[in-house]
Amino acid sequence: MEKIKMTTPLVEMDGDEMTRILWQWIKDILITPYVELNTEYYDLGLAHREETKDQVTFDSAEATKKYGVAVKCATITPNAARMPEYNLTQMWKSPNGTIRAILDGTVFRTPILVKGITPYIPTWTKPITIARHAYGDVYKNTEMQVKGGGKAELVFTDKDGNETRQLIHEFKGDGVIQGMHNVDASIAGFARACFNYGLDLKQDVWFASKDTISKQYDHRFKDIFAEIFEAEYKEKFAEAGIEYFYTLIDDAVARVIRSNGGYIWACKNYDGDVMSDMVSTAYGSLAMMTSVLVSPDGVYEYEAAHGTVQRHYYKHLKGEETSTNSVATIFAWSGALRKRGELDRIPALCEYADKLEKATLQTIEDGVMTGDLYLLSTLENKQKVNSKAFLEAINERLAAMMQ
Ligand code: NAP
Ligand code: MG
Repeated sequence: MEKIKMTTPLVEMDGDEMTRILWQWIKDILITPYVELNTEYYDLGLAHREETKDQVTFDSAEATKKYGVAVKCATITPNAARMPEYNLTQMWKSPNGTIRAILDGTVFRTPILVKGITPYIPTWTKPITIARHAYGDVYKNTEMQVKGGGKAELVFTDKDGNETRQLIHEFKGDGVIQGMHNVDASIAGFARACFNYGLDLKQDVWFASKDTISKQYDHRFKDIFAEIFEAEYKEKFAEAGIEYFYTLIDDAVARVIRSNGGYIWACKNYDGDVMSDMVSTAYGSLAMMTSVLVSPDGVYEYEAAHGTVQRHYYKHLKGEETSTNSVATIFAWSGALRKRGELDRIPALCEYADKLEKATLQTIEDGVMTGDLYLLSTLENKQKVNSKAFLEAINERLAAMMQ
C-alpha cells in the first residue's frame, strides 16, 4: 500500500511525561504506517523549554501562524515541585497560555462519545462543544474591601482628560467593590472564532449572557455577536443550514439540559469556566475530551484536554504496566491531519483521519479499553488492556479499514 503524502508540514508540538510516551507510540503504531508524515517538529518537553529559555514555545506558535495547523501534546506547567525535578532556572509559563496569547484564539472543547459509556444526562446523545471566551471580565478584575462607609464611583478619563462619573454605591458600613472590563476587539475575535467553528462543524452556535440585568456590559457582547453575524455570517449559515441563536443564560441552561447536544455553546469567560467543567463531568471523562484552539483568522491548534498523566508516567519509569487512555491524543492527531487534508485538498488524508477515529471508537465498542473507561463502561464483554495493547488493538481495525 502506498503511503498518503502531505504537501504542507503540520506543526508538531511534543510534550511531557506519559503523554510524550503515548505520542511516540501513536505515531509509530497508527500514523506512520499509513501517512508519509510531514511535520515541523518543536519539542515543548520541559527539559527543552528550559534549554531554549522557552523560546521553543514562541517559535512553535509562530510556525502555527505560518502553516495554519498544529497538533500539541500535553505539557507540564511548572510549579514549585518541578523546579528541582527539572533543574529549572525559572518557573516557565504555561505553554498553552503563551500559545493562546500569540494566536489570540478561542478554545473549543468537545467530548468524544462512545457506546457503553452513558453521560450522566442520558438525553445528551450528541456532543456539546463549549467555546470559552479567554479574555477579561472577572479574570482581569480590580477589587477592594471598604471599611466604615463612603461613596464608590466608576470614573472613566478619556484621551483628552474628560471625566465621566457614575455612582456605584453609597456605603453606610463595610463592603466590597469590584471593577472589570472587556474590549470590543477581543469580543469580536471571540464571535468570529465561534461562527467560523460553527461553519466548520456544520453545527448551530448558541450564545447566552445576562443582558437583561447587565444592560451595558453583557449587552455589548450580545450586540457585537449580532452585528458580526448579520454583516459576515448570515448568508454562510443559511447556505450551511445552521443557525445562530441568542438567549438569556438562565434560559440557555434549561435548554441545554433538555437538548440532545450537537451544537456549539459560546460562553463568556466565567460561564465557560464553570460550564465546561459541568459538561465534561456529565459526559464522563476528561480523557475523552478534545480541545482545539481557533484563532479569529482561522489558525487551528489541536490537543487533548487532559494533562500529562504524571502518576502513570512514574509507574512507567519503574517498568510497571500502565493503562493510559490515548483517545483524546489520537483525536488531536486525526483532527489536525483532517484539517491539513481539507486545506491542502488531500481527500485521502481526510479519509484516513475519519478511519482512525472510527477504528478507535470501534475498539472501545468491541469491549477493548483502558482502565479509566473499564470503570465507566456498561458493556458486558469489556476487557482492560495496557497502554500499548490498546493502540495495537486500534491498529488491527484500522489496517482492515485501510486495505
Ligand atoms: P492529568 O494529567 O489530567 O491527570 C489527572 C488524573 O486524571 C490522572 O492521574 C488520572 O487518574 C486521570 N487521567 C487524566 N488523563 C488520563 C488519561 N489519558 N488516561 C487515564 N487517566 C487519565 O492532570 P494532573 O495530574 O493534575 O497534571 C499533570 C501535569 O499535566 C501537570 O504538570 C499539569 O501542569 C499538566 N497539565 C497540562 C495540560 C495541557 O498541556 N493541556 C492540561 C492540564 C494539566 P488516575 O491517576 O487516578 O489514574
Ligand atoms: Mg475551571
